[in-house]
Amino acid sequence: MSGSSAIVPGDACLFLDFDGTLVDFAAGPKSVIVTPDLVPMLRDLSNRLDGALAMITGRALDDIDQMLWPLQLPTAALHGTMRRDGSGKVTIVGNPSVEDFKVASRRLCQQFQRWVARHPGVCVEDKGLALALHFRNAQPRWTPEPDDLKILASLLTPDLELLSGDLVLEVRLRGGNKRTAVEAFLAEPPFTDRMPIYIGDDVADVPAMETVERRGGMTIAIGARIDARWCMPDPAALRLWLAALARRNDPS
Ligand SMILES: [Mg+2]
Repeated sequence: MSGSSAIVPGDACLFLDFDGTLVDFAAGPKSVIVTPDLVPMLRDLSNRLDGALAMITGRALDDIDQMLWPLQLPTAALHGTMRRDGSGKVTIVGNPSVEDFKVASRRLCQQFQRWVARHPGVCVEDKGLALALHFRNAQPRWTPEPDDLKILASLLTPDLELLSGDLVLEVRLRGGNKRTAVEAFLAEPPFTDRMPIYIGDDVADVPAMETVERRGGMTIAIGARIDARWCMPDPAALRLWLAALARRNDPS
């Protein structure tokens, strides 16, 4: 995507996924490496866009804040279940409690724990309002079979849905998703009336990308898992490109 910084206008707004997009995957979600230049670069880029830069992530809000400390960007967390808008106000879609989620997901959690016990390296991540089964680190390699997914589907309650990501399965509350989060941001300052750019790497990003393309925006896929209007090979290439954008001083 050489020379592409020239095609991004100063009145753009930017939506960024985190894992697999801005940072490389690691053995577990806590062990991803945030390079020292990432946070200052995001801060500069956000300033250049008058604050119209949002994280759109499957991580919990306090988790992404910890990763990007001391920066607190507008963020859609837990795949859109929770959102911090441009003014810093946090809302939860449908207003469920952690206790509600734990009751609804109890049987799925038990099934996840069975797999954790059987497959070394597999782990469950409790995100409060979502639950993730990570099998990136399974030794020997293991991924749920179609029959396993059928078992999970049979345990879903009407309030829950199952998301399949890159070597991760996630149980979350139905309701908000990355698409609805992007739509909500685009209806508010400082995102309104700006050309949206969405950058992601996974199937969970695709509905948000479709919305952005329908609105005349730009989409960039990182890696080969999904298609978008543009693509880059890996997070390192994206970080280089974003750094070039952040350094540009002219508003054109
Ligand atoms: Mg991702």
